[in-house]
Amino acid sequence: MEAPATTIPVLTSKEEMRAWSRAQKKKGKTIGFVPTMGYLHEGHISLVSAARERADVVVASIYVNPTQFSANEDFDVYPRDPEADRRKLLEAGCSVVFEPESLYHIVEGADDGSNVVGRESGHPDAHETFVQVEKLQLPLCGGSRPHFFRGVATIVAKLFHIVEPDVAVFGRKDYQQWRVITRMVRDLDFPIEIVGMPIAREADGLAMSSRNARLSAESRAACLAIPRAVKWAEAEVGRGAGDAGALASEVAARIEAAGGKVDYVELRHAEHLQPVTDLRAQPTLLAVAAHFPARDRGTVRLIDNTVLQPAAA
Ligand code: AMP
Repeated sequence: MEAPATTIPVLTSKEEMRAWSRAQKKKGKTIGFVPTMGYLHEGHISLVSAARERADVVVASIYVNPTQFSANEDFDVYPRDPEADRRKLLEAGCSVVFEPESLYHIVEGADDGSNVVGRESGHPDAHETFVQVEKLQLPLCGGSRPHFFRGVATIVAKLFHIVEPDVAVFGRKDYQQWRVITRMVRDLDFPIEIVGMPIAREADGLAMSSRNARLSAESRAACLAIPRAVKWAEAEVGRGAGDAGALASEVAARIEAAGGKVDYVELRHAEHLQPVTDLRAQPTLLAVAAHFPARDRGTVRLIDNTVLQPAAA
């Protein structure tokens, strides 16, 4: 019997990654895939477990995707710990880690503000092909982060072409991202099943996030206002509340009262993300984004969400 591996294989080039996947397919194995930006927590690990249940072998990728940050965001200070990540992935039963160095030609402050050398720059290595999920990319996180979903969809499409998975697992913590990827896969006929897993939370309710490590001690306590407001909203709608505007205002007020700076609190159709007014008419996504002070510099942007189920008639 083979001894259990003590380190996880790390692949860094597209060619190695594709060759590995094709060798697995030749052996008749199905491939599960979990794309991440690293600094892994139990939320990520729950995605690896879900992938293991659905496929014979599992690839996780770690890539802090510069195209989804704009110039003034936290790309430089995004937490990183590749050694710990590899250990956690090995323990979780992941088969291999894909850590591409770069999937783009990057400059800071590109002409369109997105960190990517775009075609307008005239740079010889400019990237000029992007995937845009035209309507779903606009609201919520797309409003305050205009390059975000173009960056996500383009990089995930690239990763899908390199890894060639049968099933890919995403967290519903990034609810809009899960919807965007699901739509991209449907519209562009990727032969990949997309799975969305529930939000993993800390014992006190805070949605797990790599960014939580950047919160100051005070912010870590104060930001519990977010999951508490989300829970309150679930209870209100369970009691029959129907007015979307009033509910959103109250959720925002509760977060602001704790010292958060609200980016958005919105109520939208759970699938196509169009605004809704009557919470009794359909299951509705409540999505929240708010900033709390960081321990180092600036703020930490936290997101949370739930799908509100109307009270039974
Ligand atoms: P990230 O590393 O933040 O880009 O996330 C990689 C994947 O993990 C995405 O599909 C996220 O939605 C998912 N994820 C992040 N945090 C959580 C969480 N608390 N619960 C479930 N999934 C999560």
